Amino acid sequence: MNFDIEKLNSEKINEEKKLFCISTFGCQMNEEDSEKLSGMLKRIGYERTENNEEASIIIFNTCCVRENAENKVYGNLGRLKKQKKKNPNLIIAICGCMMQQKGKADEMLKRFPYVDIIFGTHNSYKFPEYLNRVKTEGVQIKEIMDKETEIVEGLPIDRKSDAKAFVTIMYGCNNFCTYCIVPYVRGRERSRKPEDIENEIKELVSNGYKEVTLLGQNVNSYGKGLEENMTFAELLRKINEIEGLERIRFMTSHPKDLTLDVVYAIRDCDKVCEQIHLPVQSGSDRILKEMNRHYTKKQYLELAKTIRNEIPDVTFSTDIIVGFPGETEEDFNETLELVKEVQYDAAFTYLYSRRNYTPADKMKNQISDEVKHERFNRLVEASNAGIAKGNKEAVGKTYEILVEGPSKNDDSKLTGRTRNSRLVNFEGGEELIGKLINVKIIKANSFSLIGEVVK
Ligand code: SF4
Repeated sequence: MNFDIEKLNSEKINEEKKLFCISTFGCQMNEEDSEKLSGMLKRIGYERTENNEEASIIIFNTCCVRENAENKVYGNLGRLKKQKKKNPNLIIAICGCMMQQKGKADEMLKRFPYVDIIFGTHNSYKFPEYLNRVKTEGVQIKEIMDKETEIVEGLPIDRKSDAKAFVTIMYGCNNFCTYCIVPYVRGRERSRKPEDIENEIKELVSNGYKEVTLLGQNVNSYGKGLEENMTFAELLRKINEIEGLERIRFMTSHPKDLTLDVVYAIRDCDKVCEQIHLPVQSGSDRILKEMNRHYTKKQYLELAKTIRNEIPDVTFSTDIIVGFPGETEEDFNETLELVKEVQYDAAFTYLYSRRNYTPADKMKNQISDEVKHERFNRLVEASNAGIAKGNKEAVGKTYEILVEGPSKNDDSKLTGRTRNSRLVNFEGGEELIGKLINVKIIKANSFSLIGEVVK
C-alpha cells in the first residue's frame, strides 16, 4: 500500500513555528520508525527540537524488550504531568512495541490519563490523522491494531545523518526465541518488494548518501512470501549494483539462517562491508536449546570460522544474554569460552529480563539478580579484552572511513567508521563530513581508535 502523501498537505498546520520532540527507546527498527514520524511531522509544518520543554508535541517511541526501557518511559511520563497541567494544549503521544503488548495501552491510560494519543507498531503511518483529530475534536485516541497490515511505502523520512541511512527490508519475526517479545509486538515476517528497496536506495544515493544499513529482525530470511523469488544473498547482489552507493551493511543475522550463499555474497560484493552482527546469546548448547535458537556452540563457531576464511579483515559483533533461567556456572563458562574464541569487536551484553507472555518468563529456576550481575561483570571483562586486542591490532594500518561528523566525546575531532565498523576519531575540517577518506591509525583506546588523515 502506498502512503497518501497528498493527504498530508490537508493536515498542514497554519500556526506559527511549532516544535515536536521524539524520544526513541530500543533498536534501530524503532530509530527508523521515529525517522518516519519525524518525516511526516516535518511535512505538515512542524520542526524538531531535542528539548521537550519547548515542544508542543512530545512523542515516546517505546521498547519492551527489557524492563529497564519500560521503566524509563514511566519515569518520563510521570515528569510530564506538571508540564501538561501548565500547558493543556501540549500533545503527548506514546507508540512503539511497548504499546503493542496486550493490555498495556489501557494500563498506560489509567496510570497517565493526560496522554493524548496511543498507537502501536502497525499503524504509525496514521499519526498525522490522529494528531489532527486530537486538535480539532479534542478527543483522546487509543488505536492498537492486533494484526500486522500491508507494508506502507512512500512515507517521508527525516534521517538523522546525511551520509548513512537505515533502510528496512523486512518487518516482524517468525522465530519465537523463548525470551523475546518481538514476534508478539512486531508481528510475522513481511518482506518489502526488492524494487521498493532499490528505489529508496537510489533516491538516497541521488541525495548524496554513501552508506545504507539494511534492517530486519532476521534479514537472512528475507524474501519469503514475495511474489518474486528472491533471497537475501540475491538482494545484496542486486543492491551492490546501484551506482554511486559506496557501502552496504545489514542487521540482524540469525546464525541459523546465515547460509553460505550470503557469506559468498558478502565476499563477492565490493560494497558490502566486512562486518557481521551475529547474535550468539549463549555459548551453552543446553541454554541455546531452551532459548529455541536452533544452533549449537559448535555450529556457531564453525560459521564464524567459515566467515573469517572467506572474508579477510571481517569483524564480528554480537548480543549476549546473561542469567537466562536455569543458567548454571558451567553454562556461563561456555559463554565466556566462546567470547574468548570469537574475539568480538563489539558485544551488546544484557541481563536476562523477564517479559510477559514469553515462554522463558514461565520457566522455573529464574536466576537471582546478584548472580546475574556478577556473571555480567565477568562477561563484560572478557568481551572488552577482545575488543581492546582487536583495536590494538589496527594500529599502524590505514583504513577507508566514512566521515560522519564531530566526535561525540570530543567535538574538536571528527569521527567515522572503517568498513569493518571500527570507530575512528581524528583531526580534520568540516569539509570532510560525508566523504570517504583514508586514515592511518596511530593509537588504540579501549573502544575507539585515534587516526590521522592520509593526504
Ligand atoms: S530472532 Fe529471536 S531474538 Fe531476534 S527478534 Fe526474532 S524472536 Fe526476537
